[in-house]
Amino acid sequence: MPSVHSFLPTAILAITLLLPSAAWAENAEIASEGSNSAIMAPVIDSLEPAYAGLASHLNAYVLEATFSPVTERDLATISGTEQLTYHNDTGAPLDTLYLRLYANNDEYGTGAISVDTVTVDRKPALDRLNVSDTLLTISLNTPLAVGRAIVLNAAFTTTIPTDPQQSYGMFKYDKSSNIYSLAHWFPLLAGWDTEAGWNTGPISVNGDPVFTTSATFDVRLTAPADLIFATSGSLVDAPDIDGDQQSMHFTSGPSRDFDMAASAEFVVTTAMAGGTEVHSFALPHADDGAAVALKAGTEAVKTYSDLVGEYPYEELDIVQVEVGNGAGGVEFPGLVFIGADFYDLNGEADQSVPHLLEFIVVHEVAHQWFYNVVGSDQYLHAFLDEALANAMAVNWFAQNYDPDTANQQANYQLRAGYFNLLFHDGDQVVDQPTDAFQSMEQYGAIIYGKGALAFLELQKTIGSDAFFAALHQYFEDYAFAIATPDDLRAEFEQSFGSSLTDFWRHWFEEAGGLDDFDASDLSRMLRELNGT
Ligand SMILES: [Zn+2]
Repeated sequence: MPSVHSFLPTAILAITLLLPSAAWAENAEIASEGSNSAIMAPVIDSLEPAYAGLASHLNAYVLEATFSPVTERDLATISGTEQLTYHNDTGAPLDTLYLRLYANNDEYGTGAISVDTVTVDRKPALDRLNVSDTLLTISLNTPLAVGRAIVLNAAFTTTIPTDPQQSYGMFKYDKSSNIYSLAHWFPLLAGWDTEAGWNTGPISVNGDPVFTTSATFDVRLTAPADLIFATSGSLVDAPDIDGDQQSMHFTSGPSRDFDMAASAEFVVTTAMAGGTEVHSFALPHADDGAAVALKAGTEAVKTYSDLVGEYPYEELDIVQVEVGNGAGGVEFPGLVFIGADFYDLNGEADQSVPHLLEFIVVHEVAHQWFYNVVGSDQYLHAFLDEALANAMAVNWFAQNYDPDTANQQANYQLRAGYFNLLFHDGDQVVDQPTDAFQSMEQYGAIIYGKGALAFLELQKTIGSDAFFAALHQYFEDYAFAIATPDDLRAEFEQSFGSSLTDFWRHWFEEAGGLDDFDASDLSRMLRELNGT
């Protein structure tokens, strides 16, 4: 068997566990009553009516925090208060709530988050840490009825690790580039879905570590005035400068998280995609790469808005970050991290595969549709967002280049890894939990490779019009909700007008890939990759 070029570009690798120093002071009282207003500043005008109804029953975060940069003696920190207005839409009364403290994951070394006080409706609440300190369990003083809301207040201190060994760049200070990557910086309500309930287990080893439901975010942040922040949200006003400090007020939502990156080095460039400002935040020596990333990101917003549905926000930030450890990029709401090395258009990393920087950007941008707007349980059904993002990326190349270039990308990004697994070790099922895969390589080959090939095969089978009509309906029906594989299949069946049960079972639920591909497919791919 010839050796197949295998590249795993956009895997967001994951994590295990660590501990902080959590001190509990149950009598301390913080913050005031919740203000769950409709915070819609960053939503584009045309979608405001569609999303206005959502805001009144979405969970709402109000965060006030101070960022202290790294010094020669101390790690960087973010400390502040969080007020979370939580609506019980689980369909059953609740006596417990769960917050995830992802910063305590082992992967982040000296990184940590501690929660100092917790109150529920202004009364001290009993809380305890478990799952290696990444799960904060809060016992409610009285059960919360279905459809009712409570206000939870907490004070937190988050320590940002410098250059953690195993990190994939979501949460760290990177000394060499002088960039802060700031996911995980506040306690986040655990994800909940009807199928799996609360997401309280160990953080996945393969795939995305964070699974959340939609909320609105109102964030006030004080930080050194020389730092340039890229965030999930939009600034409400220009930053208020006081000496060497700046106070910023951001809002965002509906969305699934509030993430940030910051650096004094960032060079910001902007392009428009319809009503959306796309910003590139890149290092000073990376102009050429930044221009490519900005153009691809802008075209991706246009292409996916046309094919699937309108990008929801006035802003999208594309940020050059040291993601490390072989990952290509990471998606967040309104914000994507793209691996810094790929911005060097003459460098080894970017030259390993044609159009690599563009592929990573348009994959991560596709997650704004599949992950952020339409949510799914990324532990149980990673293919719903990852395989769709890769299939959309191939479609982006078909639309913005030509079919041959799209096929070339499918060879490099989808077939190479999958064929390597299929013809050496055999096939595996796509729709299974991320940690059911034995390695990142298998997870990547099956979820990003086979899963995306399955969606492209489905597109060929039912036709592009029916394919994108279904995705458009999926985007509308499950906006800021959690969809299941059955929900997506039903959309395709509705659009196609016929059952797709057999197709779905074969491609996503069985390991029958050798029925679909044989040595001639492998030879063709190798010929095309070699340009012969
Ligand atoms: Zn992805």
